[in-house]
Amino acid sequence: MPEVAVDLRDVWVFYNGLPALEEVNLEIQTGKYVGVLGPNGAGKSTLLKVILGLLVPARGQVRVYGEIPQKLRHRGEVVGYLPQRPLNNPHFPVSVLDVVLMGRYGRVGLVRRPSLRDREIALMNLERVGIPHLAGRTIGEVSGGEQQRVFIARALCVEPRLLVLDEPTVSLDACAQDEVFEMVNRLKDELQLTVLMVSHDIGGVARHVDDIVCINRRIHVHQAPPIGRLGLESAFGCSVEYLFHGEIPHRVVKVHDD
Ligand code: ADP
Repeated sequence: MPEVAVDLRDVWVFYNGLPALEEVNLEIQTGKYVGVLGPNGAGKSTLLKVILGLLVPARGQVRVYGEIPQKLRHRGEVVGYLPQRPLNNPHFPVSVLDVVLMGRYGRVGLVRRPSLRDREIALMNLERVGIPHLAGRTIGEVSGGEQQRVFIARALCVEPRLLVLDEPTVSLDACAQDEVFEMVNRLKDELQLTVLMVSHDIGGVARHVDDIVCINRRIHVHQAPPIGRLGLESAFGCSVEYLFHGEIPHRVVKVHDD
């Protein structure tokens, strides 16, 4: 397996002539758990879309495990993805198991019915995320934290090497956020994954990941925790006041200078 999972060189993306990513250079080593931090509109989702092959940059080179991401996307078996809003209609009458099974479509195709083996894989992944007892529930009837677990199980059904998570802890309480970070860490070790996670939770990222990437159109910082005030402020573009437990920032208050 190549040592570099993700390799971006001088990547630029524009929307309506305005840059969303500028001169992005990023190398993610296989097996790392990488947290991506940055303010709203910083280009975090755009970065993920480039890596997933959903967006072709105007300039620059992108490789995922040494291949062009569009090529991997068509193979549908390398990258597991949890989008920011995975559920368009929260009242859609579909079971948790069926949602997880959707992760198999890349492998079985849309027209073939999932086999017994596909169902076994879906159930196994529900077990991995700790909610096999919810398999028969309707997706709208489980809590926010449980829903995130369902979508992580769906992403795992791809049997990915790279797991890409866009804000999996958003709208969860502090306890559930920590559980997601810890679960992803365990899954990373169990399944030998490389993980790329966008999060607003600076404390959670600082506590749990191997590498922190701070982005605001450009990559401002890419380093192992702990991360200092300067790194955060350069990406967030305003003063950041935070309290420490040892080296770990656990609360962040943005102070805007008038
Ligand atoms: P983040 O995920 O960090 O909040 P995004 O990658 O979603 O940031 O967006 C980066 C910038 O690009 C924002 O200014 C956003 O408004 C803009 N943008 C994102 N997607 C589109 C789009 N499809 N069309 C036009 N502008 C977009």
